Amino acid sequence: MEKSSLNIKSKEFSEIFEVKEGIPYFKTYLAGQWIGGDEWQEVVSPIDLNTIAKIPRLHWNQIDNTIDFIYKKGRWSIRDTPGEKRLKIYERMASLIDRFREDFINVLIINNGKTRASAEGEVNASIERLIRADLDVRQTKGDYVPGDWSSETLETEAVVRREPIGVVLAVVPFNYPLFDTVNKIVYTTVIGNAIIIKPPSSTPLPILMLAKVMELAGFPKDSFAVITLPGKDMNNVVADKRIQAISLTGSTETGEEVIKHAGIKQFIMELGGGDPAIVLVDADLVWAAQRIVTGIISYTGQRCDSVKLVLAEEEIYDNLKELIVKELAKSVKVGDPRDPSTTVGPVIDVKTADEWENAIKDAIEKGGKILFGGRRIGPTYIEPVLIEVTKESLKDMYFYNKEVFASAALLVKVKNVDEAIEISNGRRYGLDAAIFGKDINKIRKLQRFLEVGAIYINDYPRHGIGYFPFGGRKDSGIGREGIGYTIEYVTAYKSIIYNYKGKGIWEYL
Ligand code: NAP
Repeated sequence: MEKSSLNIKSKEFSEIFEVKEGIPYFKTYLAGQWIGGDEWQEVVSPIDLNTIAKIPRLHWNQIDNTIDFIYKKGRWSIRDTPGEKRLKIYERMASLIDRFREDFINVLIINNGKTRASAEGEVNASIERLIRADLDVRQTKGDYVPGDWSSETLETEAVVRREPIGVVLAVVPFNYPLFDTVNKIVYTTVIGNAIIIKPPSSTPLPILMLAKVMELAGFPKDSFAVITLPGKDMNNVVADKRIQAISLTGSTETGEEVIKHAGIKQFIMELGGGDPAIVLVDADLVWAAQRIVTGIISYTGQRCDSVKLVLAEEEIYDNLKELIVKELAKSVKVGDPRDPSTTVGPVIDVKTADEWENAIKDAIEKGGKILFGGRRIGPTYIEPVLIEVTKESLKDMYFYNKEVFASAALLVKVKNVDEAIEISNGRRYGLDAAIFGKDINKIRKLQRFLEVGAIYINDYPRHGIGYFPFGGRKDSGIGREGIGYTIEYVTAYKSIIYNYKGKGIWEYL
């Protein structure tokens, strides 16, 4: 296997790193300046754990100065950029990402371990999200409230302005570094907020390249920054009063930690998941098996909306089991993501593969039976696993109680939809669910009782670019991401009440 290394070709990116002893040392962007470091964090590829780059580890005083500059100056620069111009900037960003498409695909393959198809999908989604900022613009309106409903407020009226909250901290997970950052940029800045981006330490490179794209596209220089700092050292930042909203996508544990330190702020928290797929007696089983398998193996299960639990009604259970196993055997090819025939690349790090392996042991100890996969093929390479478990043994299992961020699904036989609801709602997470079937009464019951943020009928859950809003309930989060929907969490209402009492202007004659 050829050693992993970056191959960034466009000369525009050559300004953001310097190669020393064969390793690119990246700079980061702090409100108008590209800064190197005196301390560095290593970035490794999950393909072979080779060091592919280094990024600066910033000090608190650099971050403090950046927040101050953005709070005092940058938040007004973006607010005073007309909306029409903001849309033009997103369009330019989209066309620059398209122009540098091969570099972005390469970095997503090498830094994230994505297959080419998956990397291309993320690049396309990022472009589409930028273009679709025009739809967010339509949601940026406020209200007019007449005061004629009580004698107290007669002859008054209010305009309810929806204002940008100011400076938003965007904390990005490792799994969709380019798309997730683009999404957070669009919905925070389209209405005029400044943005401070905290990239994941494992996959920061697409985000540093995106900062260059923002600069080239003419984004107000002092209205954004990328702060490269390990998550565990972020307490001062999240607590900072100059930051008025935090949009975080990450694990439930990280969300809890951030809320604990942040104090009073507005939050969007897109947290842990792992979704149930419920298969009813009258489902098209061939279709259901195909879609469920895609939901299990896509990006090696490192998606919040990955299928982690399959609940099948007893009459079709055996049939579905056979079809899913067949489909897995047909679809899974674990290997180096640079090999075009690979469908399942590595997981992000050794710790994740260890956790996955231990969770399989735990499931087997508790009576689970492996129907497919489950082999550890290398330090970061795993074979997607399907484990048959009973509904009685399920509830103590690690896989049921905790999100393991790797390809694994439990298959459970249920008597009816009531049991499916009980098992689905028994998890601490409530991100999405899938239902396969036709019976409208059963579907209606599931729709009514499942405690989740989105339900996909006859398809596996996938958030896509957010045409349909997504977000979790329970430990899966707060708020919604989705075109037009997220504006609510990064704005504040301000009511301006006009009093015309006694001015005589209310009388016509
Ligand atoms: P993670 O370990 O929680 O990290 C997410 C981000 O939070 C990273 O940038 C991380 O920085 C940062 N972070 C960690 N501790 C922090 C702290 N105390 N204060 C501030 N920031 C902190 O999650 P991940 O492994 O990157 O991503 C996988 C998780 O994201 C899964 O649980 C998945 O379900 C969830 N996710 C949810 C959605 C959704 O829509 N609900 C979408 C995608 C992913 P470092 O990397 O430097 O630690």
